[in-house]
Amino acid sequence: MNNLFGITKEGCLEVMKKLGEPSFRGNQLYQWLYEKKVTNFDACTNFSKALREKMKADYDIEHGAIIKIQSDPEDQTHKYLIRLQDGECIETVLMAYHHGYSLCVSSQVGCAMGCAFCASTRGGLVRNLTAGEILDQIYLVEDERQVRVSNVVIMGIGEPLANYRAVMDFIALANSGWGIGMRKITLSTCGLVPEIDRLAEEDLQINLAISLHSPFQSVREQIMPIAKRYDIQELLKSCKKYFTKTSRRLTFEYALIAGVNDRPEDVRELTRLFKGLPVHINLIALNPVTESHLKGSKNVNFFSDELKRNGINCTIRRKMGNNIDAACGQLRQQTKIH
Ligand code: SF4
Repeated sequence: MNNLFGITKEGCLEVMKKLGEPSFRGNQLYQWLYEKKVTNFDACTNFSKALREKMKADYDIEHGAIIKIQSDPEDQTHKYLIRLQDGECIETVLMAYHHGYSLCVSSQVGCAMGCAFCASTRGGLVRNLTAGEILDQIYLVEDERQVRVSNVVIMGIGEPLANYRAVMDFIALANSGWGIGMRKITLSTCGLVPEIDRLAEEDLQINLAISLHSPFQSVREQIMPIAKRYDIQELLKSCKKYFTKTSRRLTFEYALIAGVNDRPEDVRELTRLFKGLPVHINLIALNPVTESHLKGSKNVNFFSDELKRNGINCTIRRKMGNNIDAACGQLRQQTKIH
């Protein structure tokens, strides 16, 4: 059986063509799947009975399953462990803000990027997610919690730009199918330069967040192996190109690690790199993971104050889920181990 959940608009047209139906049926199928979120073909009431039977013979509408939820009652953060159809697991995190619900979705099972502070990369990359499996995270959480997700951050397990085609299809589905505005979608990357350039050419109005974590090439190389492939100068050049093309403000993610990137010289170098540029730095103390010796910094407020004093835009990201395993990939990792 072919699972239709996650199929693109072109895919819907193809399906209907194969079934000998006119192309407007493809548009109807797209609406049934994503706007009306049907779970079976009998619910597609503007399809004839004969067409519904033909569809049932070849296709179905399948979803993954939520197998564990960790909730933090203090800040309304809910972390979901989702089992995919092949038995692999991923995580997704729902966060409540005053402006609505934001969902942090995974784009891969595991990750090949090897960042030293990250649990998601232990065990490497297992496989890419399909566009449908990324979208399904929104479907499952909305269904479980009976809420509407208004913002999506592609910042969970995996490097989204290493799964480029599926992530682009997901963004199109989330936007034109699910109705989430492009400006409410954020893609976070550890710094794959050619793909950032390619993304700029797509001319989408999504937000781009770069995991920077240090302004120094040598330190980035130690904690983020991708820096050996694309150095910080190349990365910043590519970010500027993205800004010129899209006019979207750039965000740099910066997890403060004790003694590694939370020193006065880090403030000075960040100031030298970013002074006068339309960038924003998101600071957060590293969520320590058991598999790493790196510890979260206690200097977050000092670091933020110093950056602001030097004219650099920054905010301290609300630290969420203190009462759950907040670092990305930990729940999946534990479930594998136990
Ligand atoms: S931080 Fe992101 S890119 Fe780096 S290893 Fe973890 S999931 Fe992969």
